[in-house]
Amino acid sequence: MGFTGHAFVDWDDTIAENIRYFREVEAETSRLIARRTGFDAGEVQRRGAELDVVVARQMGLVKESLAAAWLACYQEFAGRAGLQADPEVEAELRRLCAIPYETRQELLPGAAETLRWLHEAGFEVTIWTAGEEPIQRRKIRESGLGRWIHREAVVLEKTPERLRAFMGDRDPGRCFVVGNSRHSDIRPALAVGIAAYHVDVETWAYDHLDVDEDDPNYHRLSHIGELPRLLAQRFRLAV
Ligand SMILES: [Mg+2]
Repeated sequence: MGFTGHAFVDWDDTIAENIRYFREVEAETSRLIARRTGFDAGEVQRRGAELDVVVARQMGLVKESLAAAWLACYQEFAGRAGLQADPEVEAELRRLCAIPYETRQELLPGAAETLRWLHEAGFEVTIWTAGEEPIQRRKIRESGLGRWIHREAVVLEKTPERLRAFMGDRDPGRCFVVGNSRHSDIRPALAVGIAAYHVDVETWAYDHLDVDEDDPNYHRLSHIGELPRLLAQRFRLAV
């Protein structure tokens, strides 16, 4: 195919801001539940965050999982307070929990320039992203970065098997993953035996996991803008 190499680039919190929208909504859902059940908002938020990870692991990264977690959280605190769950509160929780999936995302600093550099340096750019297909495709479309992207690979959960399937017959020695999640980006890449460029920024508890940072395929970046220099070394290109 004549590409310099094959980049599998994560989207959420690697190219575009995402976790911030969830944090903002979680602050509101916890305050609402606290107000209606009499519990402390901090306690509600900690429990909601726990349920969020449990439900996301059960359901996959679907839009419905956030609302399911916060409805369960509300029912639990209402039960502890000896109250019936109020349908109006439940409707408000559903409305709030849809917001992070519908928001037009801000791009992270350096992300657009890095995608453009990859494209112009001759890499095949695959956006390798987890979530519901229509939502992830809409976010990519709204970003205006489509001209630097060759393929979109959307899965409900990133696994080594699915990564291998999207690699197809590409040379693994020329494939690499770029992403912020140890769980979703780094672990599958190392399991498949390809290079992993870890943009080590704040992540959701779902993403927390220890990975073998001594693996020669593991590379840590503090910012996505460091990627071109590292790839130029690896692929012997001019930056
Ligand atoms: Mg991510």
